[in-house]
Amino acid sequence: MDPHDRPRREKLSRLRRELLELQEQFGKTLEVALAGTPLVKGSVYEIARRCGNPQCRCTRGQLHRNIVVTWSDQGRHRMRSLPPERVREIRQKSKEYARFRRARAEVSRIHDRMVAVLDRIQELRREIP
Ligand SMILES: [Zn+2]
Repeated sequence: MDPHDRPRREKLSRLRRELLELQEQFGKTLEVALAGTPLVKGSVYEIARRCGNPQCRCTRGQLHRNIVVTWSDQGRHRMRSLPPERVREIRQKSKEYARFRRARAEVSRIHDRMVAVLDRIQELRREIP
């Protein structure tokens, strides 16, 4: 065995370990996508506003409070007010959506890193015939 080959083999071994770790992270991250629960794109929050009726109590500071969900759809800002019995459910589904999006970004990051590691491995394994 060529003694000068040792640093190369050590680098390769480190890269192989990193690749296996990335593979494991990749699998864990994808688990988020395997669940079948519905996702709601949007933010849930409370708004307080005046209704426009000049006789209403809201003109004296008692604003109308409403829980709404807002989202964007093809560049358009959308809003829907939520009945109290649906607030909890929509909040949960909105959290799931955010979780899904984080996982998607993470998958992209891991994938990029994997390709970089593969390029290094290829470089180190390449032999000129
Ligand atoms: Zn009012």
